[in-house]
Amino acid sequence: MCINSHAEANAKADAQQRGTGRMAGALMYASVEPCEGCIRMIRNETDIEAIIWPDGMVALP
Ligand SMILES: [Zn+2]
Repeated sequence: MCINSHAEANAKADAQQRGTGRMAGALMYASVEPCEGCIRMIRNETDIEAIIWPDGMVALP
């Protein structure tokens, strides 16, 4: 189910609706660099360790 307009927010919402919780230790792979809003949301609302895209990554301590 898609309820947001950004792919990363959709992926996070879809995963959590399937019962994944905060996804501690997970890595998120994206096809392009996520926007700052999505990075902030993933950092604040999950325990995903990093977001990785083809020419970069961001660690989320
Ligand atoms: Zn975004």
